Parts: sequence; C-alpha cells; structure tokens
Amino acid sequence: MNQRFSTAIQLSFLIVILFTLIVVGLFYVYTGGIAPLLAAKLYVIIGQIALFFVAFFIIQLRIENFILTKVRELYKDLLPTGIPLNEDSLQKDVISITNSLQRFAKESKLEIELLKDKENYRREFIGNLAHELKTPLFTVQSYIYTLLEENIKDKKIRKKYLEKAANGIDRLNFIINDLDLITQFETGVTNLDIEHFDIKVLINDIVELLEIQSEKKGINLVSNFDDSTPIIVAADTERITQVITNLVINSFKYGVKNGTTEIEISPLNEQKILVRVIDNGKGIAEEHLPRLFERFYRVEKTRNRNEGGSGLGLAIVKHIIEAHNEKIFVESSPNVGSEFSFTLTRV
Ligand code: ADP
Repeated sequence: MNQRFSTAIQLSFLIVILFTLIVVGLFYVYTGGIAPLLAAKLYVIIGQIALFFVAFFIIQLRIENFILTKVRELYKDLLPTGIPLNEDSLQKDVISITNSLQRFAKESKLEIELLKDKENYRREFIGNLAHELKTPLFTVQSYIYTLLEENIKDKKIRKKYLEKAANGIDRLNFIINDLDLITQFETGVTNLDIEHFDIKVLINDIVELLEIQSEKKGINLVSNFDDSTPIIVAADTERITQVITNLVINSFKYGVKNGTTEIEISPLNEQKILVRVIDNGKGIAEEHLPRLFERFYRVEKTRNRNEGGSGLGLAIVKHIIEAHNEKIFVESSPNVGSEFSFTLTRV
C-alpha cells in the first residue's frame, strides 16, 4: 500500500465502515432484522459492495486533497523564499514535503547556532573594546582632574602630568585608528593598490628601519636569504610593509633578551612564496592559536598593555592577507618560539 496517504486511507476506510454500520443498523431497526438484506438478489449485494468502494475512494480523495491543501499552506508559510517550491512533488509526495521541512528545520537550527555564536562574539568584542578604552581614558581623566583640582605649583610636575595625559590620548588614538582600519577591511571599503615589487628589497628596508628598535630590545633582527635574485610579487607594498612590521614588532614584544628574529622566504610552488617571521621568544600555547587573530585576543590574561599593543595587530595582519586572497599561518611552542608566515603570489 502506498505509504504516502496511509492516514487518508485509514480514515476513509473507517468512515465508510461506520457509514455502512449505520445504514445496516437503520435497516435493522426499520425492517426488524437483517433477513431481508441477506435475501436480497445478487446484483443488489454487488451494487452495495460497489457503492462501498466508490464511497471509500471519494472520501479518500477528499481527505487527501484536504491534507495537501493544508500542508501546502504550511509549506509556503514555513519555507523561506530562497527554497524552491516544487509543485510536482508537492502534489504527489507528502514524504518529500516532510523531508524538505526536516531539512529546513536542520538548516534553521544551524543558522540559530551561528547567530548565537555571533551574538556571543559581539558581546565579547564590546566588552573588550570598553576594557581597552577605559584604561587610557582613566589615565587621561585622573591627570587632568589632578591638574584642575589641585593647585600644583611645581612646573616640572605639571609638565609630567600633562605628558602622561598626552600619552593616554595617543594610546586612545592608536586603538581607534586600528579599529577604523579593521572596520574598513571588514566593510570592504579599503582598496588594495597592487604593484609588482621585489619582496627581498622590501624586507631589507623593513629590517633597516627597525634596527634601532631591535637594538633597544636586545634582539638580533636578520633577513635570512640571498639577495642576488629578486623575487617579484604582486601585492600592496604599503599593506605588506604593515604586515611584516606588525609581525616583527610582535617578535620584539614577546621575545627574550638576546633573542633572534629571522625573516625568511621559502618557495611554496611555482606561483606562491611563503614569507616567514621566526622568533625564539616566549612562544604561544597551542590552545590559544585558533583565536590568536581575533580582535583584542591576548594570550596573557594580564594583557600586554605595557607593551603598548592595541590587541588588534594580528587581526589587521589577517585582514590584509585575506584581502590579497592569500593565507596566514602560525606555529608556536611555549619557551621555544613562534613562526608567523603568509603566502604571496609571484609575478
Ligand atoms: P597585541 O600585541 O597588541 O596584544 P596582537 O594582535 O598583535 O595584539 O597579538 C595578539 C596576542 O598574540 C598578543 O597579545 C600575544 O599574546 C600573542 N603574540 C603575538 N605575536 C607573538 C609572538 N611573536 N610571540 C608570542 N606571542 C605572540
């Protein structure tokens, strides 16, 4: 038996049986027994059986139609406009409707979970943002109010307080600029200015520029490749400079005294190269690696504000690399060091 309309068949069968019993019952009451019925001619009995089946099929068809109309209304109401409504299967197959609805329910569940994750992420982001802004704001506020409310005569102290307040403002500015840049990347406002340039020259320029900073930190910064053959890549020079600078500065911030930061280039395949920034610093435990590129994510819960980072450096790096349709990787071991690497396309 076709399983699709088993409910309709059962229901119509019940109705027809009930109806037959009522007719036989009435016949019994009015004629005083069923003997006249049993004595009826054969064609009357066949006629009655035929009537039974005709009634059964008519009722079954009506019930099927009724169910289909109701299900179709439900189907149209429930399914989002994106999911096509297959008229053919709708009329022929209630099971296909059930399957579609089950699939829809599953997809909706996934979507709800995704929305919940996003909501948690948003909440965490706003919390982090408030936290990041509060500290420099509090610094500025306390120095300015001290200067306003206490009659400080010493010029030197006044200057010192103003400098501290100015530092706080610089820091606020720094965080807001970084946030602005990330927002531009996320909304796709930032356009890349793709040029062809020698990545080796760019890396050597960055190493030269960061020399004083590396000396101050007691870290030996070296580019580890042979300069003789250029490697021409297609990328936005300014943005890639920012990526390498952010990674190198991080290797200073989270490096160890007398440590080393090396920048290397490895060929990946004919088209791609890998730029690697390798340090022998503090390293990062494995559990932090999946979230490292999130905005404001910091490994140390005390948050490395002393180092002056906005907590957005790696998020910016990731956005820049992804805007180039390239990939970024990280490998790290605590107390051994870290390697941040990204791909670039050769010309
Ligand atoms: P910030 O340095 O401003 O805190 P980043 O987004 O640049 O923010 O880095 C996020 C976190 O990743 C840092 O707080 C630090 O804990 C970790 N990190 C980044 N680079 C390194 C590195 N080279 N070695 C060890 N830890 C690192």
